[in-house]
Amino acid sequence: MTSDAIRSTGLMVILSSPSGAGKSSLSRRLLDRNPQMKFSVSATTRAPRAGEEDGTHYYFKTRGEFESLIAGGGMLEYAEVFGNYYGSPRAPVEAAIGQGRDVLFDVDWQGGQQIRNSDLRDNVVSIFILPPSIGELERRLVARGQDSAEVIEGRMRQSMDEISRWSEYDYVLINDDLDRCEADLTAILQAERLRRVRRPGLVGFVKALDAEFAA
Ligand code: ADP
Repeated sequence: MTSDAIRSTGLMVILSSPSGAGKSSLSRRLLDRNPQMKFSVSATTRAPRAGEEDGTHYYFKTRGEFESLIAGGGMLEYAEVFGNYYGSPRAPVEAAIGQGRDVLFDVDWQGGQQIRNSDLRDNVVSIFILPPSIGELERRLVARGQDSAEVIEGRMRQSMDEISRWSEYDYVLINDDLDRCEADLTAILQAERLRRVRRPGLVGFVKALDAEFAA
């Protein structure tokens, strides 16, 4: 009885940020330190690149398969980008949260909005990561050494669009220090797991307290 009362249903954790604000670094840390947490692997119709494995990097689907998933309510969110579909399949998420496991989503504001409007919305905790300044955001993108100057310029424009959606999120963190940001994230998730509504086992637990008192 006690273990049931302690257990919570799994959280659907939406982490969004402009590119370069630290979303990947924070996701990696969260997944490393929470072995029960599962990353939501996206589905896509784009062709696999060298080294990409089905089910690890993406679930690779044909257009027909993807469209039947959409039609059957099998995608929690999706978008079409440059002629390819990308989205979050529902089935693995439902399976994980049903077992009390948390699921981490790496989606932009549009994906986040669709998930928050889905029937699974009660499980969602959304967190937006802001950079400490625009200068620092650009510095991090340059320091990461992954993109050309032109790509970085494009990312910066996209970043401002992403940042304009900050107020749609439950929590907003400013990533000036990665350790502190991670500690704040951990505190948010722990508090969310303790919410009464996420712990159906409490009903039986309190009934047992009543029965014990009456005996
Ligand atoms: P995103 O996934 O949001 O694009 P990354 O996690 O790849 O961002 O981070 C972008 C760059 O900034 C990386 O080189 C990362 O090591 C660095 N970085 C992330 N958080 C911090 C921080 N708090 N302080 C300094 N550098 C950081």
